[in-house]
Amino acid sequence: MPDNLFSLPDPISIPVEGELSTYPVGRIFCVGRNYAAHAAEMGNEVDREAPFYFTKSAPNAVLSGATVPYPPGTANFHHEMELAVAIGRPVFRATRAEALDAVYSYGCALDMTRRDLQIRERNKQRPWDLGKDLENGTVLAPLTRAADWSPDDNKRIYLSVNGETRQDATLEELIWKIDEVISHLSGYYHLRPGDLILTGTPAGVGPVLAGDVLEGGIDGLQPISLSLI
Ligand code: MN
Repeated sequence: MPDNLFSLPDPISIPVEGELSTYPVGRIFCVGRNYAAHAAEMGNEVDREAPFYFTKSAPNAVLSGATVPYPPGTANFHHEMELAVAIGRPVFRATRAEALDAVYSYGCALDMTRRDLQIRERNKQRPWDLGKDLENGTVLAPLTRAADWSPDDNKRIYLSVNGETRQDATLEELIWKIDEVISHLSGYYHLRPGDLILTGTPAGVGPVLAGDVLEGGIDGLQPISLSLI
């Protein structure tokens, strides 16, 4: 076998509560507009036609607790607090009943967004990549095994910036539930260990600035934080 011409960074790997081993991240799928109140604040109608997705690349992700620079090319950098689902076994064309069996663990995530670029590209009917797949633009908190946690409707999802609450909702507000998302997405991809699904953000997204500290959580999961410089 020929050697590689150069080395790539090791994939990001997320700590798992109670485990010595970590969870290496392969692909990151994100659900768009999965909370009605957030879709409305973005000026979009909500429908139950089908969920839609965009992707963020794993090399652009960082672990919770990171301190990162305010990104280039934006004057409207937004937080999106989300529930992340980590796939633990291969699954293709799963039924809703089968879907949750494929989940290894759950965790908090931040889908950081250059909102001005996302909206500019959206309005031109172009892909969202410049707005969404930015360096340090996905933040991942330690995972909790599915045996120890489930995405029940009453679980609260929340985020504060510099101690002031910005996002505060419950998983009951999810338009597409976790099993529906996995079932639908697995009709298009052979989902496999290493795949993360970020399941959308509730209302209350807004801008952050250099110097801000973001702290979020979901009931029963490990908290998440990010500092901007
Ligand atoms: Mn999002």
